[in-house]
Amino acid sequence: MARELLPHSQRVDNTRQPTKTGVRLRLLDEEAPALTRSAIVLAPHPDDEVLGCAGVLATRPTTVVHITDGVPPWAPVQSVPTLVTRRIEECEAAWSVLQATVTRVSLHHQDARLFLNIPRLVEDLVALFTTTSSSDIHVPAYERGHPDHDTVHVAVQLARRHVPRQNHTWIGYSLYSVDPSGATRFGFLDPIDYPHLPMDPGSVSLGVKRRAIREFSSQMSAGSILTQWLGNSASERYGQLPHWAAPLSILPCLYERRLTEMDDGIQPETLDNLLRSSLATPTSASGEAP
Ligand SMILES: [Zn+2]
Repeated sequence: MARELLPHSQRVDNTRQPTKTGVRLRLLDEEAPALTRSAIVLAPHPDDEVLGCAGVLATRPTTVVHITDGVPPWAPVQSVPTLVTRRIEECEAAWSVLQATVTRVSLHHQDARLFLNIPRLVEDLVALFTTTSSSDIHVPAYERGHPDHDTVHVAVQLARRHVPRQNHTWIGYSLYSVDPSGATRFGFLDPIDYPHLPMDPGSVSLGVKRRAIREFSSQMSAGSILTQWLGNSASERYGQLPHWAAPLSILPCLYERRLTEMDDGIQPETLDNLLRSSLATPTSASGEAP
């Protein structure tokens, strides 16, 4: 069973309310003691934390931040509540396999549509980063494997500019991308973005991780990403997140080939230009020291 790290009084109020800037996300009660250094995994979808950071979950109490509920906008409306619940239950089953101690935070942004409201995502992330002390924060690398993963990466880099120095450690983690031959690859970080020796924030055996991944039965259709990973179970890869002002690398795009099933309106080049221009936007904020 996944256990709660914090007593109920300290849990996140994750009810989405249209409120004033910066106060929507309250991570801790005012009187709650500061956490000791902790691990946070930013997961665009409920399963990314296991696919990319099972080693962290298996070795440290972790706050998993689900950015979306993992239910795409094309899902039938009447099925949405069931799908949301199922995805959470699958996560809990996978965490149990990993013997993980997890606190889950849900931001309830729209699956497959994160790029449509980057400012709101940045706002939520700034609130998260400023109300959490001294954490190791695991961030999806920019990989061009999934639009939501890339958008979270860019939103984090934008949020860091507005976060006072908090002594966070910023760690990029790999989910999936495409290699030069066009094949899906796992456990790869681009050496231009991640030139230093890989980091090792925690590890888990591939056998245990396979058992955890199999808990995501809703994501096991033929050819799905998790099915591919089970057939090609690469180790996880982590590295120091690039500086928040670093431009995005030029990378081949996996979702170019998957957009017909993912969405009707996302053009990879348009999305890439949006993310690059967002990152290049000048800011008057002092930003966190690199
Ligand atoms: Zn994902």
